[in-house]
Amino acid sequence: MSKPPQPRDWLKDIQSAYDTVVIGSGLAGMTSANVLAKLGHKVLLAEHHYNLGGMATWFKRKGGHIMDISLHGFPRGMIKTLRKYWSQDISKRVIQLKNIRFDNPQFSLTTSFDKIDFSHILKERFGILKEVVDEFFHTTRAMNFYDDVVMTTRELFEKYFPGRTDVWRFLMEPITYANGSTLDEPAITYGIVFSNFMDKGVFTYQGGTDHLIKEMKKELLKNGVDIRTHCMVEKIYVEDKTVQGVRINGQDIPCKSVLSNSNIITTIEQLTGEEHFDPEFIKEVKSVRLNNSSCQVYMGIKKGETVPNVGDLLFSSVADEYCTEKILSKDVTSRTFSFYYPEIRPGTNRYSIVSSTNARYKDWANLSEKEYRHDKHDLEQTTLDALEKYVPDIRSKIDHIEASTPKTFKRYTLHPSGTSFGTKFEGLKVSRDLPKQINGLFHAGSVGIIMSGWLGAANYGVIVANETDKFLRQLSPSLVTA
Ligand SMILES: Cc1cc2nc3c(=O)[nH]c(=O)nc-3n(C[C@H](O)[C@H](O)[C@H](O)COP(=O)(O)OP(=O)(O)OC[C@H]3O[C@@H](n4cnc5c(N)ncnc54)[C@H](O)[C@@H]3O)c2cc1C
Repeated sequence: MSKPPQPRDWLKDIQSAYDTVVIGSGLAGMTSANVLAKLGHKVLLAEHHYNLGGMATWFKRKGGHIMDISLHGFPRGMIKTLRKYWSQDISKRVIQLKNIRFDNPQFSLTTSFDKIDFSHILKERFGILKEVVDEFFHTTRAMNFYDDVVMTTRELFEKYFPGRTDVWRFLMEPITYANGSTLDEPAITYGIVFSNFMDKGVFTYQGGTDHLIKEMKKELLKNGVDIRTHCMVEKIYVEDKTVQGVRINGQDIPCKSVLSNSNIITTIEQLTGEEHFDPEFIKEVKSVRLNNSSCQVYMGIKKGETVPNVGDLLFSSVADEYCTEKILSKDVTSRTFSFYYPEIRPGTNRYSIVSSTNARYKDWANLSEKEYRHDKHDLEQTTLDALEKYVPDIRSKIDHIEASTPKTFKRYTLHPSGTSFGTKFEGLKVSRDLPKQINGLFHAGSVGIIMSGWLGAANYGVIVANETDKFLRQLSPSLVTA
């Protein structure tokens, strides 16, 4: 008689202990694992999903479709980050997106989304004085993380462009899509992200997310990271305010440090346990607000069909003015369309379009199965209606359409409420203070708006990997860098 198939042991041949266990393989988790391994540490990277990448991911569908989830655009700084902390070959694949379009009741224009073009549009199109434009760029550029948080983005705009809601929309709408921020966040969160883009424009990765993550995986393996997918970290063990190990898929694994890329609140409340932290710190944790989530509609263009170049990124809205409430509403008025032409995956000659909208978890979480399916279908159809303005015969060009909601993001990344961009500003301090609470416990991943997005997450991974390295070297001063 044949034996029933045994469940696969995803922890087979695991080592007896690690210097660092990295929980989660988002861009922060993967980058920190790579940096730590290159510095000579024994690193285990545990990911609950079958794929690496976290939000930086993709999926395939019948008909040869590949859909990217969060590859819409990132600042030029990503080239340096990929070159320094990954490889020259990976960094060489970053290319610029030159046609960024806005279409809304207040204005319709195309821009290369860099400082020169933005300054020109602000002066010529919106009639803003050169001195004001220069001063605005100077002020945003000079903002940095260590500044006192006093001014909000609304106050910043009021100061330079009083009453000019058209200008506010031009400056703010793309940033809201990029990191979920609103006019009422500290202006520093706007200034840093806006200046990053204004440095040289918007960039993407040629080859698609699947290519990037496969290349990163190769690098991780080359540098000796023990990568385990299908591995849920259930617990971080702490004794005497010091990390002892983790429990993964029911198995205890000792380690000297943990670098969590899981959500900051989950890391503290569920994985570690509030009892290990000072009550004052827990009070701060309780006041951390999550950022919003997203809905997306993925449209696969039939093999052999084409889509005319109508822009790379299109910020389209039918709302009268920029309004956060409307941007988050389930009754969608604003969509960002990402057009993936064949140049993104050279040789495939395929096209796809992804529509993204910011969304609230609570609007989707409590629907019945029937309502959920109905509302997803409705989202798909209204998205096609909106897209017809730019690609009139879109319905005849596609042979695949599907939607994701905040519930989808929660399921795949485990972020509470499916938050796309981590937490609001206050989450950053909590993340930074974690090692002051527990020896050997670190967090890197989307927090505080600034540290989210591909560039923010990857760079935060580097910062925290270096702090983890310092901690490990204090434990073993004889450690030699590989
Ligand atoms: C729809 C959408 C569009 C976006 N578009 C852009 C864009 O165009 N440009 C841009 O720069 N950014 C974009 N972003 C944001 C960007 O993708 C994220 O900020 C960034 O990828 C987050 O990286 P991260 O390291 O914080 O971790 P995440 O991507 O959040 O990954 C965390 C990982 O940890 C794993 N994990 C969590 N808990 C556990 C556990 N207990 N055990 C094991 N594994 C665990 C999760 O499965 C996940 O893989 C977008 C995001 C969304 C949702």
